[in-house]
Amino acid sequence: MSRTLGARANDFLDWFDDRVIRSLTRIVSRDEYSEHAVRNARLRLSLGGLGLRAASEHADEARISALSCNALNCFAILGMALADGTTSFDAHLLDPNIEPIVARYNAQAGTSLNSRELSTNLRQDKLSLPKDLAARESLLAELDNAARARLLSQSDRSAFSWAQAVPNAHFKTAIAPPLFRVGVQRWIGDLPFDGPCHYCGAPLDKLGVHATGSCKRNPAKLFRHRELARVVVDIGHEHGLPCGTETPHLFGTHDRRRPADVAIDHLFDAKLCALDLTVTEPSCPTYSFDASRKAGHMAQVKEQGKRDKYGEACFNANISLCPVSFETSGRLSRSGFAAMKQLATKAFAFDTEAGAAAVRVQTKFILQRLSCTMLAENANMILACSGQSRFNRSIDREDKREQE
Ligand SMILES: [Zn+2]
Repeated sequence: MSRTLGARANDFLDWFDDRVIRSLTRIVSRDEYSEHAVRNARLRLSLGGLGLRAASEHADEARISALSCNALNCFAILGMALADGTTSFDAHLLDPNIEPIVARYNAQAGTSLNSRELSTNLRQDKLSLPKDLAARESLLAELDNAARARLLSQSDRSAFSWAQAVPNAHFKTAIAPPLFRVGVQRWIGDLPFDGPCHYCGAPLDKLGVHATGSCKRNPAKLFRHRELARVVVDIGHEHGLPCGTETPHLFGTHDRRRPADVAIDHLFDAKLCALDLTVTEPSCPTYSFDASRKAGHMAQVKEQGKRDKYGEACFNANISLCPVSFETSGRLSRSGFAAMKQLATKAFAFDTEAGAAAVRVQTKFILQRLSCTMLAENANMILACSGQSRFNRSIDREDKREQE
């Protein structure tokens, strides 16, 4: 049996990669994508992509990993050293053709693995990381500030959690197919909508920046904010914490400011905690320069803005202020993430047996619910500005006419 990848195997991998991208185009009902969109889709989730990495580009890593994690690991478990070292093995004894593969991998990834002393548990995702990072760097170098800001913003688990969620309507992790399609198109920066905005006439763009950020007249904007607040309240109630929305008169009856989109008792301490939600589009022209240089920059800027605005008044009113600042990718600011983690921690406060592992799972679940809500509501906003949603009165009229 041949142990090297022959021409036929390479053909198969190319065919396979082509099918993956074709499947994506079928899922989102598009004929084809721009080259940048395909390269974006092929980035791993944590780097802002869809995780559809090309098998043909990672065959060497898969081969090395298979040997290390399976065969070599079995020998290690059995205590059978194949070479002198206790944790390393001579891979040649199991795969005589591994040397050129390891050499090629080293040359491409800039590493120095030694095939004569290969260690166990070399995971494929770790081996592929240098190549993945290089792929993202080369894509970033070709993008403008707005697209760079989008890609950087997506590279965080609070943003990409939607892709890991199990669809469940009750928890708002089930995204309706039309919204899912638009959400995925936005994720890879290739929306099919051009022409003028249905509400204000400004030009629409491939990234959805106008629809999800700049448009002042998009009615769906309010719904995104409300839905995110609603998910936080649902989570609070499920975890047995008393909470409410849009609590008025937090600073006394004479003050109409409302820093609490969600107010939760005893979240961090014995005080009432005011969670103030904001959503920012980092690809907007005014933000994109800074946001394209530092991931999560805008979420932090807005978080600080809320502290400057309400910090002193909250302190005087004995309220804990916790800004929950999102970027439109779903990326959370630091205090926003801390609040979500604290919600999970509170849920298991009396269950010491469940411990840290349960909090980790619950935090992940909370991020998925918020991230799915953000993806769906962004899609609603994009469809609204393109004149194709129920927010659009002419569509509503058509719906009614059909019903009559
Ligand atoms: Zn508009």
